[in-house]
Amino acid sequence: MRLVLLGAPGSGKGTQGEKLVAEFGIPKISTGDALRAAVKAGTPLGVKAKATMDAGQLVANEIVIGIVEERLGQEDARKGFILDGFPRNTAQAQVLDQMLSRLGQPAVDKAVHLHVTDEEIVKRLLDRAQKEGRADDKEDVIRHRIAVYNQETHPLLDYYGQRNKLVTVQGVGGLEEIYTRILDALK
Ligand code: ADP
Repeated sequence: MRLVLLGAPGSGKGTQGEKLVAEFGIPKISTGDALRAAVKAGTPLGVKAKATMDAGQLVANEIVIGIVEERLGQEDARKGFILDGFPRNTAQAQVLDQMLSRLGQPAVDKAVHLHVTDEEIVKRLLDRAQKEGRADDKEDVIRHRIAVYNQETHPLLDYYGQRNKLVTVQGVGGLEEIYTRILDALK
C-alpha cells in the first residue's frame, strides 16, 4: 500500500502514521522527522534548513525531494510506504508521481486527509510546545505554518480528489476512534 497523509500541522499524521506502520509493516517516511534529524546532527543540509523550519516556512523543494527520493529507493519501501509531510505543495506531488514511475513502482493508492479545524490545531500545537519544546511550536510561527498549509498544501486535496484518490477522515476524537475511521476509509 502506498499512502500519502495530508492534514494541517498537528492534525495527527505522525501518530496515525505510526499505527499504520505497525498494521501494514511498511515504512513511514516523514520529511519533518528527517529534517529535524539533519538539524540535530548538524549536517550541511540541516544547517541550511534550520532557519527556514524555525520560521515555519517550507524548505526548498529540491531538499525534501532529495530526501524522499533517497528513502523511496531503499529496499524496504518497495512494497509500500506511508508519506507524512510530503508532498506539501503541487510541485512536490507532481515530482512524487514522476519519481514512482521512474523507480518502477505503482502510483500512490490513496491520500488520507485528516480534517481538523484551525482552532483545534492551534490548541494542540500550543500544548505540544509546552511538552516537547519544538522550535517551531510558538504561537506566531504556528499561525504562519497554518497559513502556509492553507495556501500551499490545501490545494493537494484537489490534486488527489481529481485523481479519485482522496479520502477525508475527521481527525478529532480518540486516537483509536480516528484510526478505525482511517481503516474504514481505506477499505
Ligand atoms: P508539522 O508538524 O508542521 O506538520 P513537520 O514535522 O511535517 O511539521 O515539518 C516541520 C517543518 O519541516 C515544516 O514546517 C517545514 O519547514 C519542513 N518541511 C517538512 N516537510 C516539508 C516538505 N515536504 N516541503 C517543505 N518543507 C518541509
